[in-house]
This record gives sequence, structure tokens and C-alpha cells, in this order.
Amino acid sequence: MTRLRTLGSRVAMAPSRQPSTQRVADRRITGRALQERRLRIWSRDPHCAGCGRLVAMHEFELDHKVALVRGGADTDENCQVLCTGPDGCHHRKTQVDLGRARRGD
Ligand SMILES: [Zn+2]
Repeated sequence: MTRLRTLGSRVAMAPSRQPSTQRVADRRITGRALQERRLRIWSRDPHCAGCGRLVAMHEFELDHKVALVRGGADTDENCQVLCTGPDGCHHRKTQVDLGRARRGD
């Protein structure tokens, strides 16, 4: 059991950073894999796919072009950069994806 205890203390020492984007319990990837994908896709094109604004690393959400709830794939190809904020493109698209968009807007 010595090995287990060593591993345990190492895990305990690791910084536990909970991603703030964790809210929907679905099949999307999380944690480190998600952070790596964010960096990968943002590095490819650091512009918002909605409004074209250049966004910083902390200013965007990784968005699924076709939402997972609509059967979209959880792949890099189905992901894009969207700016965040109350009026951000990600917020607006999420509303649409959830079917809450008001008619006439
Ligand atoms: Zn935008």
C-alpha cells in the first residue's frame, strides 16, 4: 500500500482548478483535454466566429457549431471560438441553441 499512499499525496498536492464552464452534464470533454482543445482551436484562429472580434485566451467560450443537444459531434472540427459576456456571441448562440430565442429579435 506504500505506492498507493505516495500516489495519493501527489494527487492531493496537485492544484485543483475547476473549470468555470462546467455546468451542463452532458457528453462533452472536460478538464485538461478541454483546456488543450481551447488552446488548440484559439491558436488556429483567435477571432470570434460570430462577430469577428479578436479575443484573448480568457475572453471566449469554445462553442459547438452544431450543439451537442442537437446531435453535434464533440470534435475539434465542430468547435469554434465565440466571445463571452452578457452581449457576447456565445451567450446569444446558447439562447438560440436552447430554443429560447424570442421571435422578432
Ligand atoms: Zn462575438
